[in-house]
Amino acid sequence: MILRWKRTQNETQNERNPYQIFYTVPCLIALLALATALLFWKQYETFRASYLAEIQEDLTFQCNVAANVLSPFIAHGETEKVQQFFRTYSNNPRRLTLIAPSGKVIAESDRPGNLGNHLSREEVQEAFATGKATHAIHFSETMEKWMFYYALPIEIGAELYVLRISLPIDSISEMMARVVWFIAFSIIGGAGLATLITCYIIYRIRLPLAKLQESTVRIADGDLSGIVFVPKKGVTRELALAVAKMTKQLRQRIGELTVLESFRSEFVANVSHEIKTPLTGILSAVEMLEDGAKDQPEMRDRCLAILSHQSHRLHSLVLDILSLAKLEQKCENHLSKTDFTPISPQAILQSAVAVCAESAKKNRTELVIHCVDNPTIQGDSQLLEQAVTNLIINAVRYSGSSRIEISSRQHGNQLTLTVRDFGIGIPEEHHGRIFERFYRVHKERSRELGGTGLGLAIVKHIAQLHDGHVEINSQTGKGAEFSLIFPIS
Ligand code: ADP
Repeated sequence: MILRWKRTQNETQNERNPYQIFYTVPCLIALLALATALLFWKQYETFRASYLAEIQEDLTFQCNVAANVLSPFIAHGETEKVQQFFRTYSNNPRRLTLIAPSGKVIAESDRPGNLGNHLSREEVQEAFATGKATHAIHFSETMEKWMFYYALPIEIGAELYVLRISLPIDSISEMMARVVWFIAFSIIGGAGLATLITCYIIYRIRLPLAKLQESTVRIADGDLSGIVFVPKKGVTRELALAVAKMTKQLRQRIGELTVLESFRSEFVANVSHEIKTPLTGILSAVEMLEDGAKDQPEMRDRCLAILSHQSHRLHSLVLDILSLAKLEQKCENHLSKTDFTPISPQAILQSAVAVCAESAKKNRTELVIHCVDNPTIQGDSQLLEQAVTNLIINAVRYSGSSRIEISSRQHGNQLTLTVRDFGIGIPEEHHGRIFERFYRVHKERSRELGGTGLGLAIVKHIAQLHDGHVEINSQTGKGAEFSLIFPIS
């Protein structure tokens, strides 16, 4: 039987890689981290711009105040007062520089000594050129720092001076850099940690699921031989256990179906074989009659005897097959016990003996009933009678015993109906298979005497229908004892 089924190509294509999640989640987290980093960068830019605007405002204010103070001193050539004012800035982080139109530094708050010509400074140049206040950020060679500069032109008479105020921005750059690094580390660290945690959760949930998925796909492809992966704990354990149980049941069911199928084909082969011999006999007898035997009384009688014997064999075979089929149906259908009635074992034994009396008499066999116990049991009286009859008929046919004992005994809540003979017995090697259909110990004798090979199989089924079983106890030359054992309800 082919129980493999193929999934369509589409189904296979639609299957997602179960491990895909292991790289999609980290990618998503990385994307998220990148978006957050961009957002922080934007924020940093805004923050920096507003910080610089604030510095510019402060320096503008300071420069204007200084210009107001210094303008009259410069106008009156009061150099000492100018220097004095510049000295007030010595402890101030702001640096103040007064530049003459020639670019010469007149006064300087941080480095009062001789400084180079300042016309080269872009903000100074622009202030002189445009006559307007201007600002710039550049590296100061003098201070060796990045500085923010504000240059204010001061018009004194016909002369244009430039008062420049500056503030180092190294400190804010450093602070900004520290903030940026902190944010970057937080993002990278956070994203890494989130990835690790997510991967761990995925590993605990998704990996068992992926393995289970592999098992189920294999099962869906018809391969039931593999073991279903069952995790030691976790949410997927119950699911995996259910799948494993289902697979086991499926395997069992397929096994049962395979056995049933081989059983069925064996039965069909056996039945065909059993029918073949009587049919051949019947056909040859008919042919002989047609070929002229009908006109010779002796031949005609022989042909008629063959026809009678073989048709009886066929009839018995059909009856036994039907009996077995009915019994099997009843065994499968548990409601069959609803038509059970209270039965007296003694009555069963007596009617079975009555049925077999004639053939026993022909064989000069004595049938003796020992009804030691007679409890009422629930059952199908016709079937129980058939079972005991089959056992008596077998003993009469095959044992060669002159005496057959049929008894009924109760042991606890069990009833045993026994048919015992003292004849040839049945060798032990046959005991295991004797209740199988068409199994015969004495093949030729069974066929000669009209046996179908189904008698004991029918007995076994009747016992099972009554929740009981049948036992054999026999040795070669020491007779045979068949016992039907039932529970007393
Ligand atoms: P059959 O229709 O051939 O009698 P059964 O299933 O009733 O088929 O019996 C199976 C075989 O068991 C018989 O063919 C016979 O060889 C053997 N057998 C049954 N009962 C006895 C017995 N009491 N003594 C010896 N052989 C027996």
